[in-house]
Amino acid sequence: MANDQVRNVVICGSGPAGYTAAIYAARANLSPFLIAGPQVGGQLTTTTTIENFPGFPKGQDGNQLMMDMEEQAKNYGTEIVYEKATAIRPEDGHYVIETTAGPVRTHAVIIATGASPRMLGLESEQKFWNYGVHTCAVCDGGFYKGKTVVVVGGGDSAMEEATYLTKLCEKVHVIHRREELRASTIMAERALATKNMVFEWNSVVDEVLGEVEGDHKKRVTAIRLKSTKDGSTREIPASALFLAIGHMPNTDWIKGTIDLEDSGYVKIGSHLETNLEGVFAAGDVHDHHYRQAITAAGFGCQAALEAERYLVRKGVAG
Ligand code: NAP
Repeated sequence: MANDQVRNVVICGSGPAGYTAAIYAARANLSPFLIAGPQVGGQLTTTTTIENFPGFPKGQDGNQLMMDMEEQAKNYGTEIVYEKATAIRPEDGHYVIETTAGPVRTHAVIIATGASPRMLGLESEQKFWNYGVHTCAVCDGGFYKGKTVVVVGGGDSAMEEATYLTKLCEKVHVIHRREELRASTIMAERALATKNMVFEWNSVVDEVLGEVEGDHKKRVTAIRLKSTKDGSTREIPASALFLAIGHMPNTDWIKGTIDLEDSGYVKIGSHLETNLEGVFAAGDVHDHHYRQAITAAGFGCQAALEAERYLVRKGVAG
């Protein structure tokens, strides 16, 4: 991939923000170059039906929605590589993006690398990671058909994951650290009315318990809960723990080059600009407030329009 060509705009990330930026940049004849990143299609590929993306009266499968966005971006002239961006640095009036397949040079950059699921930070969570500890019910719920599982979190993601799991599992315990859900009313009501879903209020996960035989024979047998009221502990027999406690922005690769908020999200100006001229951010990588597919897509559109204006000012685009 390494050559001296300086591209107009490189988009890092392949979620709704990245693909929307690509579609707009491609239709503006900017021949965008998109570095898809480690999770092609982003977070929506790990969800079920998207019911709130306009244009789909009966909802749409998340994976399908992202494949369609990818195809649309390609059809209008986006070049996509399935690699990971690892760093950005300014060089001779343009930027170099280091990737897992070598450097790419560009005048403008759109950072749309999204966010990843937050972890609890327990040693046992790492020990049983992928062997009973998961972050995606759609991807891994099938392993626990007819079993009892635990979901931690009180937001929309937790309700969505837990609701999905109730269709496969005998029983789903939802662990929440308070006694009031953060989830939207419709999702909360649906979850609270589900028969085989049990809520464990005012509780946090203290430890993931299980059996280990060698490197790959591990299984979760129970989750130890701790009361946030009195610190008492108790165990729930369960075969898996699904984490749904929010997300962290994927900004490690730009730390030190792009200004970040204390929370790790990209610091942006009113037009999605970062501290580097010609470098914009779009979607969950900067937006910790809305975090919706449709808002990410909207930010992708804005970033592409801003990048185009920047390229015109710079005399690169007409
Ligand atoms: P969220 O709204 O930030 O909720 C995270 C939940 O995890 C909260 O209930 C929080 O508890 C809990 N939590 C955080 N850290 C924890 C820890 N260390 N231990 C225990 N619990 C912890 O995240 P989200 O559910 O992923 O949703 C993110 C955004 O996406 C929201 O805007 C949501 O509406 C949207 N979303 C929408 C849909 C949909 O419409 N289909 C689906 C999924 C997500 P507290 O409540 O006590 O803070």
